[in-house]
Amino acid sequence: MKPRSSLLTEKEKSCMKMNWLVTLAAVCVLVPSVHCATGSGWCYHDASCNDTQWGTLFPSYCAGNRQSPIDIVSASATADSNLTAFTFTNFNDSSALTKIANTGKTVKVTLASGVQISGGGLSDTYDSLQFHLHWGNGSSVPGSEHTVNGKRYAMELHIVHSKATYGGNTTLAVKDSTGLAALGFFIEIMSGNETGQPAKWNLLSSYLSNIITKGSSFPIPAGISVDDLLVGVDRAKYYRYLGSLTTPTCNEAVVWTLFKDPIKVSKDVIDRFSTTVRITDTSSQYMTNVFRSVQAAQSVTTQSSSSTSGYSLGLMCPESCSGEGLEPLTLVSLHSMVLLDRYCQQRRCCQAEHSKMKLVFNGCD
Ligand SMILES: [Zn+2]
Repeated sequence: MKPRSSLLTEKEKSCMKMNWLVTLAAVCVLVPSVHCATGSGWCYHDASCNDTQWGTLFPSYCAGNRQSPIDIVSASATADSNLTAFTFTNFNDSSALTKIANTGKTVKVTLASGVQISGGGLSDTYDSLQFHLHWGNGSSVPGSEHTVNGKRYAMELHIVHSKATYGGNTTLAVKDSTGLAALGFFIEIMSGNETGQPAKWNLLSSYLSNIITKGSSFPIPAGISVDDLLVGVDRAKYYRYLGSLTTPTCNEAVVWTLFKDPIKVSKDVIDRFSTTVRITDTSSQYMTNVFRSVQAAQSVTTQSSSSTSGYSLGLMCPESCSGEGLEPLTLVSLHSMVLLDRYCQQRRCCQAEHSKMKLVFNGCD
């Protein structure tokens, strides 16, 4: 993820000339995606400036100990009852996506003001500033930044937020250890032979042909909301950890949320990203493998299984179930629908009727 572009102008001014190695006459210290006059400070595609060098080129903070992305080991995620549901404000606004741009490192979409998130265990309301993507090389080389149990997804969508109290000033936000919040969504190749799906992803990716070269941008016509792009994701299920920007200068200011369900996108749409936009001009290479390697593990939390289901389940089993090995009118406590399913399968015991507080078994089949 990267800070929003409106700051870049301000940050451009802070490009500091410094003697650095032999090959880099200057490094743009704070700017992840802007070319300094004498050369870009970092890259994905070349061994002299790719992520193996970021810790040297940007020792504060890329060499820090709270770096992103990470591999999420689901079995090691501990339960945290503070991880409640999010409130998404104006995610359904089909005019919220204002501009799509080629930064030379990613494809970034600027969001209109008024798009916000709160809840989700966050301490504050956060403004949604922009989203961008990370990918590999077509649908054949996956390029998500985070991995889950070692699995790398085809792509990863990052929606970048700044604490609302900073009013969009990300220079201030990156100085706060929870100043930024990033929502990460995995993108997986849709099974089957469908093309152009989901429709709004197809539409969004059709704009890539307008931003082939670095620095180009295109105004997005109304018609796509943020919600439209998050199809098929249960936003109540997520992982949480404290990490960093995944691009230099890697500031350790990000509250990360990674949603467990992936967005499913057809292969042809995924392929468009690595075969349309280029890293500089029209004769430069296509933008591929734009993701940082996994960093040292951080402690990850997730919802407790009882809060995932929304309530704790009680089962009252009627007498007729006793033949199935259940005590009559036993009240058992189960903590998730998954456990309930398993329980029902074992007992072959029936027609559950469910209320907010408990499930009552009416009979056996
Ligand atoms: Zn990102």
